[in-house]
Amino acid sequence: MSPPARRSKTLEVARRGGGDASGLAGKKVLVVDDDPGNRELVKKGLSPFGYEFVEARDGSEALSALRAHRPDLIVMDVEMPGLGGVEVCRIVKANQGEGGFGFVPVILMTARQGSGKIEGLELGADDYLVKPFEMPELSARVKSMLRLKALQDALVAKNRELDRANKELDKRREELLALSRTDALTGLCNRRFFEERFAVEFARSSRYRAPLSCLMLDIDHFKRVNDTYGHPFGDKVLQEVSAVATRTLRDVDLLARYGGEELIGLLPETGPVDALRVAERVREGIEALRLPYVSADGEKTKVGCTASLGVATFPVPSIDTAEALLRAADDCLYAAKEAGRNRVRQHEE
Ligand code: GH3
Ligand code: MG
Ligand code: MG
Ligand code: MG
Repeated sequence: MSPPARRSKTLEVARRGGGDASGLAGKKVLVVDDDPGNRELVKKGLSPFGYEFVEARDGSEALSALRAHRPDLIVMDVEMPGLGGVEVCRIVKANQGEGGFGFVPVILMTARQGSGKIEGLELGADDYLVKPFEMPELSARVKSMLRLKALQDALVAKNRELDRANKELDKRREELLALSRTDALTGLCNRRFFEERFAVEFARSSRYRAPLSCLMLDIDHFKRVNDTYGHPFGDKVLQEVSAVATRTLRDVDLLARYGGEELIGLLPETGPVDALRVAERVREGIEALRLPYVSADGEKTKVGCTASLGVATFPVPSIDTAEALLRAADDCLYAAKEAGRNRVRQHEE
């Protein structure tokens, strides 16, 4: 276990002394050296710029300080007992990713004839200083690395922002797509979307000879409902009727508002017997509705309503196109109306 890195107390002095023309004051510099004299030298050289210092005496202390203090820059000796500067540099660079340390520039300090200089750069040190170095060189290199770090941080932040914006855009696009397919009053699919899907479902059904049933529904005497209770109440009836149909059909079925007060359902993998059963359940559900109505003078009543339905199923010899299936269901719907409304009529082969 390494002792915790010590923080420099010279920060306030340095801030007062140097000013902050570069906008880098307060940046955190991790100074790593086994020689305390060298650490002091680095800090002294950088004292006019208002940086904050964190110190470490060897490689493993440097790694703990890195985790604890998240410095903007590491200025590090190559030759240290235990974990050396080159190894620490390798670790830092191997953990640059989002979950790791992020990008932290490293300046390695090497002795004049040291082999670490070449090695350090090859291992991804961003810059190096050969000891003994001049103070202006130290401050210039540190400044340029801190600028690089600031630019990199800004880039990462921008990318994050862009990611967020893209996700938001994707969400909006999906919402718009859903809206473009939806009827605003009932929340059902609209006719345009129904027609697209109908063509696809019919093609699939003809290819595999899988049964496909079509169900057409029209509310009975809806004009009278509007005339008696007003258009807004008519809207409410439409919504409730749509809800009954939605509840009765399966998730894989497609239910759309086909016209004013006409709904259409498409039931894949559903033969005539099941289709008739579903249509009858929808009819019963609508007949059972009791919609609260409050008249202008405050009188409360419950209003009922009914609907007529036509059902047709493909494949049968008399139906060979999607249009023919639709027409067959529509013919049955009008047969149901003719027969007295509030009933289901089914297409016969
Ligand atoms: P039938 O039993 O023969 O179907 O009679 P009906 O009165 O329902 O038929 P008709 O086609 O004569 O009237 C349909 C009415 O539906 C007329 C129209 O004003 C009304 N309608 C269409 N769309 C809407 C809507 O979005 N909201 C409301 N409240 N009424 C609508
Ligand atoms: Mg050393
Ligand atoms: Mg009607
Ligand atoms: Mg109608």
